[in-house]
Amino acid sequence: MFDIDLSYLKINQNKVALLQEMGIVTIEDLIRFYPSRYDVIVSIPPVLVDEKTIFEGVIIEEPKIFFIRRNMSRMTFKVQYQDTSYSIAIFNRHFLRTHLSLGSVVTIIGKLQSPNQVVASDIKLQSLESLSGFHPIYNLKSGITTKSMSGYIKKGLTFVDKDLIDFIPENLIQRYQLPYLKEALWQIHFPKDEVHLKQALKYLKYEEFLKFQMTLLFIKRNTHTIDVGINKTFDTQSLQQYIYDLPFVLTDDQISVSKEILQDIQSPHIMDRLVQGDVGSGKTVVASIAIYANHLAGYQSALMAPTEILASQHYRTLQKLFANTSMHIALLTGSLPAKEKKAIYRQIENYEVDVVVGTHALIQDALQFKKLGLVIADEQHRFGVNQRKKLQDKGDKVDLLTMSATPIPRTVAMVLYGDKDVSAIHTMPSRRKTVQTKVIKTKSMKPILPQLEAYIKEGGQCYVVCPLVEDSETMDLQSATKIYDAMCAYYKNKIRIGLLHGRMSDEQKDQIMQAFMKHELDILVSTTVIEVGVDVENANMMVIYDAHRFGLSQLHQLRGRVGRSTQQSYCFLFTSSNDQEALERLTFLENETDGFKIAEYDLKLRGPGELLGQKQSGLPSFLVADIMKDFNILERARIDAMEIIDHIDTPQYYSIRKYLEKKIEKNETYLD
Ligand code: ADP
Ligand code: MG
Repeated sequence: MFDIDLSYLKINQNKVALLQEMGIVTIEDLIRFYPSRYDVIVSIPPVLVDEKTIFEGVIIEEPKIFFIRRNMSRMTFKVQYQDTSYSIAIFNRHFLRTHLSLGSVVTIIGKLQSPNQVVASDIKLQSLESLSGFHPIYNLKSGITTKSMSGYIKKGLTFVDKDLIDFIPENLIQRYQLPYLKEALWQIHFPKDEVHLKQALKYLKYEEFLKFQMTLLFIKRNTHTIDVGINKTFDTQSLQQYIYDLPFVLTDDQISVSKEILQDIQSPHIMDRLVQGDVGSGKTVVASIAIYANHLAGYQSALMAPTEILASQHYRTLQKLFANTSMHIALLTGSLPAKEKKAIYRQIENYEVDVVVGTHALIQDALQFKKLGLVIADEQHRFGVNQRKKLQDKGDKVDLLTMSATPIPRTVAMVLYGDKDVSAIHTMPSRRKTVQTKVIKTKSMKPILPQLEAYIKEGGQCYVVCPLVEDSETMDLQSATKIYDAMCAYYKNKIRIGLLHGRMSDEQKDQIMQAFMKHELDILVSTTVIEVGVDVENANMMVIYDAHRFGLSQLHQLRGRVGRSTQQSYCFLFTSSNDQEALERLTFLENETDGFKIAEYDLKLRGPGELLGQKQSGLPSFLVADIMKDFNILERARIDAMEIIDHIDTPQYYSIRKYLEKKIEKNETYLD
């Protein structure tokens, strides 16, 4: 790694500042700033009128310049190509005049206007042969040209040339017949030809995935496998009794996932399991079984949720579920008065609390457990690895269970979660009705107003979701504020309407959400900030504006906000799109309720970045590799990484180990 400052390269200070703005701070950043694409220059002889042409000619007539206006010029000259002469016209390049002397060879890029006339868009002072091939194009800030970027990169590569050490071990370079890093980096920036470029790409993609997989495994190794966990024992009879006393019968999926979790708890490994399942599929109930087993084994549990609302909701749920047990439950959130917080700290320290539910407040150093045995992280992608680890470190060899309501296909799970064990709940408890979903081609509420008003009159509540907060001029999208204003004006005070969006403070958001939960509001107009997992049983109608703007998984997630009770619920997907594909995509949701199937469909259509909604996806971003297109390379890298990790302490992997240690020290773990 070359954490060396760019100043060593003697680049103009202003340009260095621009580079820094682009995130290029070290020489490593610079040489890893790969082209976004390549321009290919190949010969296209001037044959077809009106078509693009690229050819090499000899200048046979001196250029003449006409100034049309002060800064606008037209230059003409003649070149000989094979046995024909062509007159060339080019605008605003009069500064090239001095280089265009009789007899010199130039390459003309332009369009053949008539059989002997070319309007050039560019003139290169080199021969076509020296130009042809792949020309890197970089995504640059204005102020830096591709040419100067190539120059900086050349300086950078030359500077570190002798010190470029391969991350990929020698035996794997041999096995896959890869070039060395040095070669790969030179070729990605200055490709000799297509073959070399492809080899370079192959190297860099594999390297990127291998680094990623190694990082995941290395973290896991450091936190888990070195320590052998505790094989907890608990009274299975008591646990059976708890499950038997639940007010419902567990679904098959709940039973099998519970079994997997209980095996983890009993086994000498430290549990690191992810439970995926749609909102309402019954994950919290499964979590309660884990908590109870952990309690019976003589340990405390902590359940961490990303927001106060979700934490208090979990708290109430656990209170209900554990009503017939002797479990002591505490709620710990940041907004508690200091005095109460301290009292709860003391109770937890003295093991007067069996399970504490909370937000990030659980991570505070002041909180100590007597005997923490299990950490559960809800909506785990909202927490960083380090946050989970920090909580886990409050006990000895603590089991970790994470829960996610964004089901994703196995393939992507592998990338996201490394080698976590993954369990899935596919089926919903049967008493729940499916949300009636309907795609409506409309820009306004008109088509559903009668139904909405009747529903509100009967005492129901409705969500109205919009993609943006404020109107943007460039896009004709419905914004939350605009809709809110329009609805308020329309209904005056007859219907109580609230507005919720991401630019509000957490406190404001909480207030509005609470008001909606208490039925002080009938309609909640919001952006997508309405929390995953929030339960408002009385809200059974949802309208989503510009639905084509969302990914299917995200729509499905949003839809999960309604249908929290036994009542029939409705979801209206509004769209004004005429795009047949977009409509087809949305219609898929009308008949599909399985989040995993929806995610798979989404993944095929839109790729993984879109899958979970851009921001909270938590998917690592790769520079050259593409999770979907290069999936076979990723799988390869994963297998290889597992092999390497088993021998990571041997001298041959010394540099890999050092690299990973440094990355983790700097917290560059892909995952946060
Ligand atoms: P999740 O955490 O996955 O969103 P919950 O565990 O909160 O789901 O369950 C959602 C609702 O369904 C709760 O009201 C819960 O009591 C209920 N529930 C859970 N499992 C079952 C079941 N097997 N049968 C009937 N209702 C269930
Ligand atoms: Mg839940």
